[in-house]
Amino acid sequence: MKRNYHTHTFRCYHAMGNEYAYIRRAMAAGIEVLGFSDHAPMLFPESHDAYYRMKPRLLPDYVETLLEYREKYRGRLEILIGFEVEYYPDYFASFLDLIHPYPIDYLILGQHFLGNEIGGAHMMKETKDERILVDYVNQVIEGMKTGVFSCLAHPDVVFYTGDADPYEKEMRRLCRAAKEMDLPLEYNLLGLSEGRNYPNPAFWQIAAEEGNDVVLGWDAHRPSAFLQSEVEERAVSNLLALGITPMEALPLRAIFQ
Ligand SMILES: [Zn+2]
Ligand SMILES: [Zn+2]
Repeated sequence: MKRNYHTHTFRCYHAMGNEYAYIRRAMAAGIEVLGFSDHAPMLFPESHDAYYRMKPRLLPDYVETLLEYREKYRGRLEILIGFEVEYYPDYFASFLDLIHPYPIDYLILGQHFLGNEIGGAHMMKETKDERILVDYVNQVIEGMKTGVFSCLAHPDVVFYTGDADPYEKEMRRLCRAAKEMDLPLEYNLLGLSEGRNYPNPAFWQIAAEEGNDVVLGWDAHRPSAFLQSEVEERAVSNLLALGITPMEALPLRAIFQ
């Protein structure tokens, strides 16, 4: 794939490698548009250890570093500056205020926790609780309605292993809402390469039936991720088998009007 919009850096404390390392590997893999979307800083109370995301004080350096590389690689690689962020009702407005002064190109929605993160259920923890499934879909739909996101990352991140009927009902509700709002869904290559609970074939069957737009995302947490061509081939063949052709380019939505 020539465009990847889902890339992390060392700044989130659980990905490896600086921007330069990702840029070099992306170019080696034939990528032409590289979007960085590190886990966004949020203005939580001091008492909350947001261990897997960028600290707000690192934000200026993230943006300045990427602006410098954008100039340096102009004509060879297009670099975009973004964030992957959850929709947390209590912290979303202050997050938007925090990034407003910076030239951020796009946001992707990646709902890793419910509620406001603090004390909220983690989506990658296995559960048979239907309530968590319903709450996940409700919260993602609320997030999509903000209109600031360009895609929904790993829409099938919720690790629900209960009955199939509620899964189908809820995920169809999610897919229909995304379709109605013209928001592409990301088929996540990190999950595929690591054999995580996502991409979930049951989910992508529904997305195929509902006719959702689909984009591939590396969700790179190490620079060499881009070089796993066999993972990309597997993803494309999984999708083609369902009648889904992934989009080439993601239309980017303005965050601020
Ligand atoms: Zn991550
Ligand atoms: Zn990610």
